[in-house]
Amino acid sequence: MADKENIYNEEEYKKLLYQVQHDELLDIFSRRYAKEYLRNASDVWSCASFIVIDIEGFKSINATYGHEIADGILIHTALKLKALAIENKWILSRHGGDQFLIMCNKTLDEGHPYLKLIRDVFEEPFRAGSIEFKVSVGIGVANANNVLNLEEQVDNAEEAMRVAKSLGHNKTFFYSEELQQKAVQEKIIREKLRDAFDNDGFYMVYQPKVDAHDLSLSGFEALIRMKEPGMFPSQFIPIAEKNGWIWRIGRMTTELVVKQLAKWRDEGHELYPVSINYSSNQLSDVSYVPFLEGLLKEYDIDPKYVEIEITEGVLLDQTIRANELFKRLQDMGIRLLMDDFGTGYSSLGYLTYIPVDVIKLDKSLVDNYLVEGKDSFINDVIRLVHDLDKQMTIEGVEEEWQYMRLKGFGADTIQGYYFSKPLSADEAIVYKPTFVDVKKGE
Ligand code: C2E
Ligand code: CA
Ligand code: CA
Repeated sequence: MADKENIYNEEEYKKLLYQVQHDELLDIFSRRYAKEYLRNASDVWSCASFIVIDIEGFKSINATYGHEIADGILIHTALKLKALAIENKWILSRHGGDQFLIMCNKTLDEGHPYLKLIRDVFEEPFRAGSIEFKVSVGIGVANANNVLNLEEQVDNAEEAMRVAKSLGHNKTFFYSEELQQKAVQEKIIREKLRDAFDNDGFYMVYQPKVDAHDLSLSGFEALIRMKEPGMFPSQFIPIAEKNGWIWRIGRMTTELVVKQLAKWRDEGHELYPVSINYSSNQLSDVSYVPFLEGLLKEYDIDPKYVEIEITEGVLLDQTIRANELFKRLQDMGIRLLMDDFGTGYSSLGYLTYIPVDVIKLDKSLVDNYLVEGKDSFINDVIRLVHDLDKQMTIEGVEEEWQYMRLKGFGADTIQGYYFSKPLSADEAIVYKPTFVDVKKGE
């Protein structure tokens, strides 16, 4: 490499170095520089605290008010924090879009004055453009006493910040042993998932859906399983989501289901519609629909045998993309089901404009409302769904009396352990709903 003096004079070099080390917009250290600094600073920071601050709802501020105003908020925040940093000898850096990282050489506890100083920054309303704002934040703290890997402490503070945000507005959370345990657990699941992706480690089970009126089999819900024992979807699906792998799960489950339909057909069985769970984070997989279309062609399966279960989550973000997805699936002749109904929005308004044919009432509503004195609510919801010309499937029905009651309310379809747990493909296709206790094992 050429000697720096040969290219730049001293002045220019200093300027360039400053640019490399600083965030252009906020004029504080850049994330890259903070990282590099930490790599070389373990001795200086043997006793330290790492604080990650995240501005809540920044994405929607950006979307609502535009970049200029959003930048204004960041600049204001950076200026305030910078003043504190200089006064207290902290190192302050921009830690990604709307996040800040502070390192200080003190161990902090909940009542430490440093934290009050930081919180006070967000107490005062301020102007950005012509608008007055008061933002709230999530603050995560990791204390590092004689810990060598400081970069890991930053990750810990980030993890603590995520917990803080989940607790409400302007919360502070300290990284703890418990969180560490959780992180270790997550790492194990992550590795098992990676392994399963590479080694065909997933399969599908099929839970029967039963027509409430005549007890005929009306279809199945496909549910993913890992071949690795002791791994449940409620554990690994969230980890897959968090790591950006859910689109892979989405494609794989779709492929397994279409192949299974072809196999059943080739074995001479009558086919039933199978619903596939679609996670809202799959919206970024923009070629999912052509992928599904290709599979249906390849295996010569009528689209009426595939249904997609969406959740209210798809309606929250990226409505344009969601609407596009709905339309394309509808054009293909694929039915949409609204899953987990009753757990998200309290508004029902969206039911009038999104093209779902079936509403699946969540188990928690059955558990909470299908009880003496409260169950007229369930009756009303079913009636409302029917008024909208849609069908109602009830999930999580475990008892005969629940089935009887729901049937009386006019529910169309029942899915639950009372009729059957999820079954292997071979068991599912020969399953016949009966009125007696048929609780089969998985
Ligand atoms: P979900 O989509 O609401 O699926 C229904 C869950 O309720 C299934 O759990 C099913 O086994 C369980 N269930 C059905 N009837 C009863 C009952 O009577 N009593 C009780 N206690 N439970 C019942 P599972 O298979 O463990 O799946 C849990 C969640 O994981 C699913 O909830 C879904 O959100 C997710 N999941 C499962 N498979 C997939 C998949 O292939 N793709 C995606 N994206 N998510 C999946
Ligand atoms: Ca589902
Ligand atoms: Ca559900």
